Amino acid sequence: MNQTGRINPEQALAEHLPPLTSHEAIVEANRCLFCYDAPCTHACPTHIDVPRFIKKISTDNLIGSARTILDANLLGSTCARVCPVQELCEGACVLGSEHKPIMIGRLQRYAMDYVATRGIDVFQPGLPTGKHVAIVGAGPAGLSCAGNLARLGHSVTIFEKRELAGGLSTYGIIALREPVDASLAEVEMIKRLGVKVETGFDLGGNLPFTDLQKNFDAVFLSVGLGATPALNIPGEESIVDGLYYIEQSKINAATIKIGRNVVVIGAGNTAIDCATIAKRLGAERVTMVYRRTDKEMTAYPHEYEFVKNEGVEFRFLTQPISMVAGGLLCQQMSLGAPDASGRPSPEPVTGTDFILSADQVVKAIGQQKSSIAAQLGLTTEKGFIQVDQHFQTSIPGVYSGGDCIRAKGSASTVMAVEDGKLAAQSIHRKLTHG
Ligand SMILES: Cc1cc2nc3c(=O)[nH]c(=O)nc-3n(C[C@H](O)[C@H](O)[C@H](O)COP(=O)(O)OP(=O)(O)OC[C@H]3O[C@@H](n4cnc5c(N)ncnc54)[C@H](O)[C@@H]3O)c2cc1C
Ligand code: SF4
Repeated sequence: MNQTGRINPEQALAEHLPPLTSHEAIVEANRCLFCYDAPCTHACPTHIDVPRFIKKISTDNLIGSARTILDANLLGSTCARVCPVQELCEGACVLGSEHKPIMIGRLQRYAMDYVATRGIDVFQPGLPTGKHVAIVGAGPAGLSCAGNLARLGHSVTIFEKRELAGGLSTYGIIALREPVDASLAEVEMIKRLGVKVETGFDLGGNLPFTDLQKNFDAVFLSVGLGATPALNIPGEESIVDGLYYIEQSKINAATIKIGRNVVVIGAGNTAIDCATIAKRLGAERVTMVYRRTDKEMTAYPHEYEFVKNEGVEFRFLTQPISMVAGGLLCQQMSLGAPDASGRPSPEPVTGTDFILSADQVVKAIGQQKSSIAAQLGLTTEKGFIQVDQHFQTSIPGVYSGGDCIRAKGSASTVMAVEDGKLAAQSIHRKLTHG
């Protein structure tokens, strides 16, 4: 709240974990057992040598610590903020069973903030190879691929359709976890490795694929996923798109419209973020509706706990039917036999329609697959771009990684970063050894 009694969006959505002080960081680093063959390193999808970077913090060698992190994960700053550490590195920490696990994410952020705030560039561009690589999409996968290729001396241009680079780190991840500035600072770090970032270029729109094939030695597609799918219910045009809601809260927070009584459709991490934004920016009541139960919801357990603590309410076994005057017409569901996803299928219970009152309804029910695969005629798997073990698509010389290839497993930033790194290694091998 500011002096006029209005909520200040920047304060309400400021990063919820404060940076560690140097005293806190050193005390925490000294708790680490520096395990041999450390489980945290195995649990990190980018395999950062966690005990090594923590050891360097304990001896106040923060540039060395940042180098250890960035060598495995060029987007170490974003990952330190957004990784679901409970499910990854910290979840594997041996101290977790009897004591508190080491705060690996926050220590990582401590080292990354040290170099970022001082403008220290840990790596330099490699010696020029004369090879040119085009990357489509400036999200975590594209930036990781670009930065690693630049370290190896290749000339890299990223084409991005939006005005700002960073992908979902800039536009999609709630500011509580990652503010826009943190994402853009990382983009600048990648640019200082010599990577060109051309925004306003849309592959399939004003950027012809044939131009990329003609002018570059290799192409990496990191286009992520698409828009929120349709619910196909009457009155849907008055439902707010959840991705747009989050984007507004990050980019245009001063003008975002928040209802007093908000209903969020969905129960994944995006829905949790929408509910959190509504609550933090002044909604009196926020209710999440989901057609299954809390056992089937896709949000991480710690996110579910977080949003319950924010005061968000839940209506499980509830299916939206249509928008009506005063809110959302819903129907009660029950769970039947497992469907194709392996989860019990929700089945309508007749005669249970009711109106859930709301003056704003937000839908956050996932993202559609990218249309790029169909446009380019690429082979797909469950609608995702199919790649081989070298991240090469069905078109030779065209590689892909990140959310757009994630046919298996759950999409996350750190997985996209790892794809970008491994694809860069494959592209480098191909360009230098044939
Ligand atoms: C709301 C939300 C919250 C999330 N929170 C977390 C979290 O807390 N932790 C976590 O680990 N993961 C989180 N994720 C997932 C994570 O953001 C993604 O897994 C990650 O961003 C994937 O990176 P990417 O580079 O593959 O795709 P993206 O980040 O989606 O980037 C793709 C880029 O490609 C561009 N693009 C698309 N099509 C074209 C085209 N035709 N031409 C040019 N450019 C194009 C897009 O504009 C975009 O910039 C969240 C996702 C969402 C939606
Ligand atoms: S990148 Fe993510 S998973 Fe890996 S060590 Fe850092 S915070 Fe943990």
